[in-house]
Amino acid sequence: MIRTIPPVDRTTLEQGLRRLKLRHMRQHLDDINELALQEEPSYMDFLGYLVAREVEGRENTQKELHLKAARFPFYRTLDDFDFSFQNSVSQQTLRDLAELDFLRARENIVLLGPPGVGKTHLAVALGIEAVNQGYRVQFVTAQDLADQLYGALADGTVAQAMNKLLRNDLVVLDELGYVQFDAAGSDHLFQLIAKAYEHRSLIVTSNLDFQDWGRLFNQPATAAAFLDRLLHHAHVITLRGDSYRIRHRLTPPAKPDP
Ligand code: ADP
Ligand code: MG
Repeated sequence: MIRTIPPVDRTTLEQGLRRLKLRHMRQHLDDINELALQEEPSYMDFLGYLVAREVEGRENTQKELHLKAARFPFYRTLDDFDFSFQNSVSQQTLRDLAELDFLRARENIVLLGPPGVGKTHLAVALGIEAVNQGYRVQFVTAQDLADQLYGALADGTVAQAMNKLLRNDLVVLDELGYVQFDAAGSDHLFQLIAKAYEHRSLIVTSNLDFQDWGRLFNQPATAAAFLDRLLHHAHVITLRGDSYRIRHRLTPPAKPDP
């Protein structure tokens, strides 16, 4: 009998998978074959499993790429955050935000507080969650953004730099408040927020209270217009307390036994 489904040799199979760019199937051929021999699934189930492995593999590869592209300064999640040390913010609030409704609604998050209270940690944790759910994220400090914008200004590529940043679903702008912007910088920072407004979500962290934001910008009116857009659809979280970095130095020494 001439068979429609003839036996296949390994090389031909691998070539086919390579040609179709089914890398994960190709790489796990032996495991999958082994598993099928053990479990003897139906042909449909087998095919379904094969496809699911490829899909999963691709999603993971994409996540890794997005994670790298996001340029987070460290990898820390909400699970790594000690809410009993930082009790000015509720764990539930952060868990709710990690559902990412704010991102789908193009809302912003503003994290305020003194150094060391966990602003960057929480911003990164939410950013990682967004990457895990398939969104594109970019982390940038205000200093790096200023450098990038001034660099772009020099070679006339500000619009490209800005569009590149805003191609992401979420931009984390960290440490707004340490650098002051001159007229051009203020203007570009304002344009960035104006372009992001209602189209992209931002997470902004700052050590400044809102009333001090005027200092950041060249003109107080720019600060006001910036805040107006930033805060129109925003979740503002104010963190208080001691720096986590120096927490060991804050524990009182043990009392000697009487
Ligand atoms: P901030 O941005 O407010 O200055 P960070 O988020 O950078 O502070 O926190 C400083 C360091 O302390 C980071 O390594 C961060 O992971 C850690 N940290 C801060 N708060 C907590 C916390 N409540 N639980 C666990 N780690 C924390
Ligand atoms: Mg920080």
